[in-house]
Amino acid sequence: QQHDLVSFIKDIVNDFQVKAKSQQIDLQFICPFKTLPFSFDAEKLDKVFFNIISNAFKYTPDGGAIHISLLKNVEKLEILIADNGIGMTQEEKERAFDLFYRGNQNISLGTGLGLALSREFLTLHQGEIEVESQKGKGTTFKIILPMLASEDIEGISQMPHYTKEDIEPTVVV
Ligand code: ATP
Ligand code: MG
Repeated sequence: QQHDLVSFIKDIVNDFQVKAKSQQIDLQFICPFKTLPFSFDAEKLDKVFFNIISNAFKYTPDGGAIHISLLKNVEKLEILIADNGIGMTQEEKERAFDLFYRGNQNISLGTGLGLALSREFLTLHQGEIEVESQKGKGTTFKIILPMLASEDIEGISQMPHYTKEDIEPTVVV
């Protein structure tokens, strides 16, 4: 089913703003579009974004930054969730998506299911998830979703008010 992916992510990010303020975290959603009609299972992608953004909060000390951005070309969408938190070792990176795997046990509570489930849910969307991380520097998760040939065509026909303004960068602070 088609939803507006931009307002979908914006809403999830905004739900974290109070938490971000209380931890002096610079939380931003940077997106070149105002709207982007896209077919996805909202319940599942909500869990994916919620988990990855929650992880970023868990593993980023107060005063840090969490930047979420959305990029798109004709064949795919990329959503990056970047933090400048504690980062991962090579081993943590390799095992992050394993069922029940948890690194940094001492830092917070959790079951180690979040990323395994996220990868599963993205596979159901023909999507992928990758991680780049450096211990002590930060972590970036990259979600890749294929743009099906139908998306753009249907999308534009459903956007009678699509104007040049829609492709100006939007930043949610
Ligand atoms: P759950 O999500 O089930 O509550 P969890 O957050 O520990 O528990 P995952 O979300 O699957 O489990 O993450 C697995 C592990 O990957 C984490 O325990 C942590 O070691 C590492 N990790 C995930 N995200 C980050 C991040 N942004 N920065 C550093 N380490 C991370
Ligand atoms: Mg998690």
